[in-house]
Amino acid sequence: MDEIRVRYAPSPTGYVHIGNLRTALYNYLFAKSKGGKFILRIEDTDQTRKVEGAVENIISILKWAGLDYDEGPMKGGSDGPYYQSERLAIYSEHCGYLLEKKKAYYCFCTAERLTALREEQQKQKLPQTKYDKHCLHLSEDEVKKNLDAGMPHVIRLNVEPGQIIKFRDYVREDVEFHSDMVDDQILMKSDGFPTYHLANVIDDHLMKVSHVIRGEEWLPSTPKHVLLYDAFGWEKPVFAHLPLLLNPDRSKLSKRQGDVAVEDYRKKGYLKEALINFIALLGWTAGDDKEIYNLDELIKSFSLDRVNKSGAVFDIEKLNWLNAEHLRAKPDEEILGMLKEELTETKYAGFSDDYLLNIIAAMRPRVSFIKEFITNCLYFYEDPETYEEASVKKGWKPQSKDILMKFAEKISLFDTPAKEEYEKALKETAAEFSVGNGAVIHPLRLATSGVSGGPGIFDICFILGKEKTVERIKRAVEVLK
Ligand code: GLU
Repeated sequence: MDEIRVRYAPSPTGYVHIGNLRTALYNYLFAKSKGGKFILRIEDTDQTRKVEGAVENIISILKWAGLDYDEGPMKGGSDGPYYQSERLAIYSEHCGYLLEKKKAYYCFCTAERLTALREEQQKQKLPQTKYDKHCLHLSEDEVKKNLDAGMPHVIRLNVEPGQIIKFRDYVREDVEFHSDMVDDQILMKSDGFPTYHLANVIDDHLMKVSHVIRGEEWLPSTPKHVLLYDAFGWEKPVFAHLPLLLNPDRSKLSKRQGDVAVEDYRKKGYLKEALINFIALLGWTAGDDKEIYNLDELIKSFSLDRVNKSGAVFDIEKLNWLNAEHLRAKPDEEILGMLKEELTETKYAGFSDDYLLNIIAAMRPRVSFIKEFITNCLYFYEDPETYEEASVKKGWKPQSKDILMKFAEKISLFDTPAKEEYEKALKETAAEFSVGNGAVIHPLRLATSGVSGGPGIFDICFILGKEKTVERIKRAVEVLK
């Protein structure tokens, strides 16, 4: 196998889990770093678990994240279509081959019999419940009779007991399973649809997939797949099972402890750059201290050799930090676009680009999320209605009224004061009252913003402009006396 071909093979059963995006990302990075192809294949053979709109969602998330696939739905390619539900004839033909070679057999057992069997095995405390190969022993005539009579049936893989199933995994190296632990897996269901195992192996072979890179939860399925490759006489791909994603308490990452759907993070305003960077580091490291990567840098640095075996802890603080880093590194124009989009969702639309760019410059070091360009400094968008009580107590003195009115008078002399002119007016005011600058700054901050924190006071005054600054001073003086 010389061409590198990998695939992301999601089942359209609902939201896209963070772990799925990591699988897609690692496949993408591996393909791109090796000049190979990244294929998207929709594994939609489980009719009961199909969710309307899930495929569109998968595609939209890949697009959003910048993980463009080379072959797949709506992209065509030599081995399409890439919906398994459109490839049923292929699976059934291949299953026919396995039946002929006696590697698979028809099973007519009823649900009642299977339940009774399972209960019996549980009672005996067997290490694992397994099908007992009852139907393997049916004669050809019996099978034919049952089929002719239209008896419901499945087709099972005939797993020979007493074998060691060995394969090499890129991450876990040599892996061994005892075939006694492997059930006679169903390959074809009674509805005529293949199971995941059968369709997955056939497609990986026919689509010339060179490396199967997927989550560790699929490791127990791999011996079944290995048996299938052997039964067909096919060369196996290289397997690489990615470590589990864990909650901080090292339990498996689950919905109960926080968001696991990529959509949730997208809705909360995480940047794709941050999420991709974060996910890339969930199970992989370049081996140095570098933590901030863009997608191109990831392509250059990624290698399967450096994927860890042990579980990767999902640390939301790190994601937040990365979000801030990526956000702050963005050019003004890009932040402006995102901010304007965010503002359309609020009552604050309609500010000029220049005004917003000033806010961006002042707030850039103080935000981690786009929405914080609004929520952390509402005073740039509307007049403060109230004044932070504790700061009033601390910073508003009997003299503050006169001080601020003096300051207002001084800045009124300028047409459009520059930052330095606000500073000059402030210093002069302080000198005239023989007080420190703080005796002007604190009440001025309260008057203009209603709060005590934020960017520099001259930035605030400058962004608001002379009229707004004076207007707010007058109002504060009236309210706070
Ligand atoms: N359809 C499986 C899933 O939903 C694919 C697993 C695999 O990559 O083999 O993740």
